Amino acid sequence: MLEVRGIDSFYGAAKILRGVSLSARAGEVVALLGRNGAGKTTTMKSIMGLVRPRAGTVRYDGRDITGQPPHLVCRAGLGYVPEERRIFKTLTVQENLTVGERPARDGAPFWTVERLFALFPNLAERRRNPGGALSGGEQQMLTIARTLMGNPSLVLLDEPSEGIAPVIVEQMARVILQLKGEGLTVLLSEQNLHFARLVADRACVLEKGEVKFEGAFADLEADPEIGARYLAV
Ligand code: ATP
Repeated sequence: MLEVRGIDSFYGAAKILRGVSLSARAGEVVALLGRNGAGKTTTMKSIMGLVRPRAGTVRYDGRDITGQPPHLVCRAGLGYVPEERRIFKTLTVQENLTVGERPARDGAPFWTVERLFALFPNLAERRRNPGGALSGGEQQMLTIARTLMGNPSLVLLDEPSEGIAPVIVEQMARVILQLKGEGLTVLLSEQNLHFARLVADRACVLEKGEVKFEGAFADLEADPEIGARYLAV
């Protein structure tokens, strides 16, 4: 479904990604793993058209979307939740969601505000509160929920467990598994194995902009060398 082949991406003259290839099949949860600065965010931005790769291709659903502007990438069915939470602080939780509303899409789950409140009960309880009054973890949930309002068939989640309380981390893992159950494809980035272990079918390990491992999560776990060398464990 998502097929990234040999992408090189730069910031100015600095080469950040070196021939990155990875894939995600429909309905799969793929973890993009690697230490701080390994290139996870740059990979996601390169897929979303926020950074234009200088070499390689990004294909989605059989279409070449390499370097397309982000709004067209979204239209193709991709939703992106960046690391920094992007909510409207003065709008209520419910208003934050309606802002993201888009028409239904073939082959993707269709979300309404009420369906999302069923998925995120914490947000339902706070539906009339301003977004800015939520905790960090709840703001993270709200960002994900708002992205889902666009009815994507694949979501990219940049470090969804970053900086949130352990109890929320578990809820986050449950949400991701429920999204998978709805048929959504998920690509998430993560610095350590603990969260990824809860949700991922497959893993792709990056170091210094290069892919060091791609395969089943179980195979990654079977080789402790990889974790010790490339990940924070
Ligand atoms: P993190 O966990 O910190 O988000 P990451 O694996 O997502 O790590 P990236 O954010 O993709 O890593 O960064 C990869 C490299 O690119 C790092 O060396 C970083 O310093 C550099 N970099 C990131 N953004 C820029 C930028 N806007 N300009 C120049 N260099 C950048």
